[in-house]
Amino acid sequence: MKISELFNKGKTVFSFEVFPPKKDSPVETVYNALAELSDLNPAFISVTYSAGGTGGAKESTTLLASYVKNKLGIETCAHLTCMNSTADDIRALLKELEEHKIENILALRGDKNPDVPAVNEFHHASDLVRFIKVQGLDFCVSGACCPEGHPESKDMISDVLNLKKKVDAGADYLVSQMFFDNAKFYEFKERLRLADITVPVSAGIMPVTNKRQFERMIMLSGASLPAKFTQTFSRFEDRPEALADAGIAYAIDQIIDLISSGVDGIHLYTMNKPAVARKIAESVRSLL
Ligand code: FAD
Repeated sequence: MKISELFNKGKTVFSFEVFPPKKDSPVETVYNALAELSDLNPAFISVTYSAGGTGGAKESTTLLASYVKNKLGIETCAHLTCMNSTADDIRALLKELEEHKIENILALRGDKNPDVPAVNEFHHASDLVRFIKVQGLDFCVSGACCPEGHPESKDMISDVLNLKKKVDAGADYLVSQMFFDNAKFYEFKERLRLADITVPVSAGIMPVTNKRQFERMIMLSGASLPAKFTQTFSRFEDRPEALADAGIAYAIDQIIDLISSGVDGIHLYTMNKPAVARKIAESVRSLL
């Protein structure tokens, strides 16, 4: 099923994201996590893609997405990045996805990585969206968006105008980067409305459940951290169990507020941790 159709059913689309194992670990290591996540009956599970950097092998994305769809019977979305690929590489991958009956692709540019030279055939995610659409293949194609602006963008306005190009190229819906301050997401939605971007937007929620993850979040994400968030984490940083509970409660609180405001979808970055996803899913199930 095309994920775009799920957004037409008048309910919040609640989905999960997983990542393939690192290169030296077999893909089977993620199967157990996927089986547990599928028990939670998400609308779909998306699988990230690594073009050859530090993440898993790129073939793993297709294998795991196929497993989700064809073995577990849950709808899936395969992520696909383009900046390190040629048009022929992408054509071959699209064929492979079709062969596995995968109907949904999250089309991304990918992060710039000094160790992996860019191929320079696709410069932006919008190029990939357009490329997939003109192949005449029957894929639902989504794109990423950053509620607080992409770190490379000079300002929010240019970022939203670039996002408009991605939607005009054919993106059927958008999935957001993680954020911890819902007010930033609502301001972003307002900017999208002004730019006449009307496709559904799923809100990316990352439950932060340990100190290392918290510190990485501060360093890497660029997302604003509200005082409520930093206070909670400073208070419990030396008590791992309390910190995990607080992180899960924070994510639940964000989700309840978003659902109450009529958000199109919630995309949970599960970090391949079904126990965390379970606590969150069970707490918000009746709201969905
Ligand atoms: P783009 O949409 O191309 O945007 C990148 C920058 O270029 C922005 O500053 C934008 O404003 C600008 N830009 C865009 N279009 C144009 C244009 N036409 N003209 C001029 N400027 C333009 N990375 C992975 O490697 N694998 C994954 O599986 C993965 N999954 C992700 C899932 C989600 C939900 C999100 C939010 C991100 C994910 N990423 C993943 C990270 C993503 O690859 C990075 O954020 C990357 O830096 C940008 O990707 P993008 O698709 O947003 O790029």
